Amino acid sequence: MRQIAVLVLGGIFFATLAAQANPDSISRMKRHVNTLTQPAWQGRATGVGAPLAAEWLVLRLDELGLEPAGDDGWFVSHQVPVDLKAKSTFQMGAKTLAPDHEFQVLGFSDDLEYSGDAVFVGYGISAAHLGHDSYQGIDPAGKVVLAFTGIPKGLELGVRDEHLASLESKAAVALAKGARGIVFINDPRAHGDGADEREDKLALPNVELPLKGIAALRISERVALEVFADMGADLAAMQAEADSNSPSPLSVELRLTLQIERSFAESQNIVAKIPGGRGPTLMLAAHYDGLSQARAGKDYTGADDNASGVAVVLELARRLSKDPIQNRDVYVVFHDAEELGLYGSRRTAHWLKARGKEGKLLNLDMVGRLRESGLRFHGNAEECLQAQKSGKFTKVEIACDQPAASPSDHWPYLRLGFEAVSLTTGRTVDYHQHTDRAEKLNFPGMLQVTGFAEHYLRAQAD
Ligand SMILES: [Zn+2]
Repeated sequence: MRQIAVLVLGGIFFATLAAQANPDSISRMKRHVNTLTQPAWQGRATGVGAPLAAEWLVLRLDELGLEPAGDDGWFVSHQVPVDLKAKSTFQMGAKTLAPDHEFQVLGFSDDLEYSGDAVFVGYGISAAHLGHDSYQGIDPAGKVVLAFTGIPKGLELGVRDEHLASLESKAAVALAKGARGIVFINDPRAHGDGADEREDKLALPNVELPLKGIAALRISERVALEVFADMGADLAAMQAEADSNSPSPLSVELRLTLQIERSFAESQNIVAKIPGGRGPTLMLAAHYDGLSQARAGKDYTGADDNASGVAVVLELARRLSKDPIQNRDVYVVFHDAEELGLYGSRRTAHWLKARGKEGKLLNLDMVGRLRESGLRFHGNAEECLQAQKSGKFTKVEIACDQPAASPSDHWPYLRLGFEAVSLTTGRTVDYHQHTDRAEKLNFPGMLQVTGFAEHYLRAQAD
C-alpha cells in the first residue's frame, strides 16, 4: 500500500512539472531522432553506423554531466559475430536439399562431416520436472537427431522454463547426450494461414558464436513432409506422437557436410552513471543499434526501433541528472547489438553482476508509436497493476504483459536475477521495414512515455 501512495503523489507532482517542460522536451527528442536516423548512419547497424552513433551519444552524456562508468571510460566493449558464411551439402533420405529455402544453417552451428542415421526425438526437450523427456529410450550418442521446433501441445512453460523451447537449448540438450548434430523441423503449427506464412519460409537466423561440438540446421515443413512421405511416414502423425511424448522409433539416412566461417565486429555498449546513493541500483536502458540495411533494405533508419527509445532515455538522463533520485545510483546504458541477438545486454548484465550490482532495469524499446491501446509494460504483474493506477495521473494507458512477451534487452537481466521491466508502444506494420521513419513517430506520445518512465523510476526511491 505504501508504494501505491508514493506513486500517486509522484504522479500529481510530475503532471505539473511536465506541463512546463513539454515544448523543449519534444523539440530535443525530434532533433535526437533526426540525428540518429540520418542516412549516413545506415540504420546504426553494429560495426557499420553504430560506432558513429556511439561517439555522438557519449558527447550528449558528457554534456549532461553524467559520469563515465564503463571499463576505463564510457564503453563496455566486446567482439560480436556479425556475419556467417556456410559451405554445405545436405542429403536426407533420397532428397538433396537446397540451401536457404529448403534448409538453413543456424547461427550457433558448429562444423560437421557426417554420414549415417538421423534419429527422431520429438521436440528434443528433456525436462524431468515437467514430466517430458523426448529422449526416453533413445541413445543419440554419435548421431544426428531430428526434432520439431516449438513445444508439445498442452505443455505449459513458465518464465523459468521457457528457454527450453529455444533452438539453442534443444541443441545443448542433444550435445549433452552425445549427439553430433540436430536438424530442426519447422513446427507445422507455428505458422499461421497468411500467404507468407503458408509458404513456410525460414526466417533469417541470428549469427551466434558456435555451440562447440554440435551442428544445427533447420528444414522447412514442406521438405520434411516430402522426405518422410518417401519413407511412408506421416508428419502430422509424428507430431501427434511427439505431443503425447511417445514418438515411434524413426530414423532417416543423412549425409551432411558443413564448414562455417564467421566474421566479427567490435561492439560498444555505453555505460554512464548518475550518482544518487547506496541503495539498490537502477538501470535505464535502450538499444541504439539497428538492423543492418543488408537485412532490412537500403533506406532503413530504425526510427521507432529504437531511435525513439534512445531519445526518451536521453531526455530521462537530462531530468535525472538535474534532480537525482535519492538513495539510488542510476546507470544509463545504451546497448549495441540488440538486433543481432541481445549481445549488448548479455554482456552488460554479466558485467554489472560481476561488479556486485543488483537492482532493477527499465528498458525502452520502440516507444515512438503510442496509440490508444497505450503503453505495454512487460514485467512483474503486481507492479504493473500499480503502474496502471499511476498511469491515470500521467495520462498513459498501461497494458500489462508477461516479461517474455517482448524479446528485448531485459531478458538477459531477468535471467541473471535482476528485476527487469521493458516498455514498448508495440509493433506496427513498419516493424523492421524501411518505412520505420522519423516522420511517423508520435512525439507528444514519447513525452508521455518519458513522463511515465520518470515517474516509475522515482517511485523506486525509499
Ligand atoms: Zn528494438
